[in-house]
Amino acid sequence: MLNEFSLIEQYFLNNKKQRPDSIVGIGDDGAVTRVQPNHDLVTVTDTMVNGVHFDESTPPRAIGHKIVAVNLSDLAAMGAEPCWISLALTLPDADETWLSEFAAGLHEICQYYDCTLIGGDTTRGPLTVTVTAQGQVPAGEAITRSGAKPGDWLYVSGPLGDAGLGLDMTQQADMATGPHLQRLVERLYYPHPRVALGQTLRNVAGACIDISDGLLADLQHLLSSSGVAADIELDKIPLSLAMTETLSQDAAYKKALTAGDDYELCFTVEEHNRGRLETLTAHLKNKPICIGRITQLREPAIQFKLHGEVYELPLEYQGYNHFNNSVTAKD
Ligand SMILES: [Mg+2]
Repeated sequence: MLNEFSLIEQYFLNNKKQRPDSIVGIGDDGAVTRVQPNHDLVTVTDTMVNGVHFDESTPPRAIGHKIVAVNLSDLAAMGAEPCWISLALTLPDADETWLSEFAAGLHEICQYYDCTLIGGDTTRGPLTVTVTAQGQVPAGEAITRSGAKPGDWLYVSGPLGDAGLGLDMTQQADMATGPHLQRLVERLYYPHPRVALGQTLRNVAGACIDISDGLLADLQHLLSSSGVAADIELDKIPLSLAMTETLSQDAAYKKALTAGDDYELCFTVEEHNRGRLETLTAHLKNKPICIGRITQLREPAIQFKLHGEVYELPLEYQGYNHFNNSVTAKD
């Protein structure tokens, strides 16, 4: 096995372009970064464990991409510009093919978002990858989960459920996969965090969260942080063509509400900011979709309407528990 130093040397002490605000990077006891004046630093961490968040069939390149993407998605939800990441890597052995593919996936997404890898650690053990990402936001402008108020409109940033459907297709050999397989598996393996949209939502969204565990689970977090409830119009929830052509309507809505790993944003907007949101997002291919409205706190916190009528969700939706629902469940 390569020793720790040569592992880092070979795959992570990269000669890629570094951000000028990374003053001291990999190779010293600590990294030194320079935060812009009048900005706040936002720090997030996510771990992915073999057998829990991915399995042996997941390409190492996808693992490298995704561990960065899920962190950048959390930064996006806070309205932050991603700047720096550090990596803690636990490996059962130094498989060089695995490492080079993993590093390629990680470097690609870092380069794309101008995010510099500034440090890390490698240890021997069961395969586990942890990334801490840091981003900046103008002082006082970070978006939190707790700013939703009754009367605000509720939005999601794009179609939901595709990654979950892609996961089913990779795991269920008997499932009819159809022409959309490749696109859905891409959504699962190579999610695109909504980095630009998150920054656009500063001073526009009252509250925001990224959808990592499914709309119902993540919206619950936003509602309880804000002390409010929500009405959702089921038929407004955006579904991709791949979704509607693969599943029945009921199964598609269930997937969109409960499946994780989409990394879209869910956010609230006050009435007087709706036009501003529309103007700021007019150029986007996937425009944010209004799916409901925030109400005063009540039980249950989420109520549904279908074509304007109150709609009781089947019980199994509400019993959803992300800890035992999918191999990609994450908290
Ligand atoms: Mg999150």
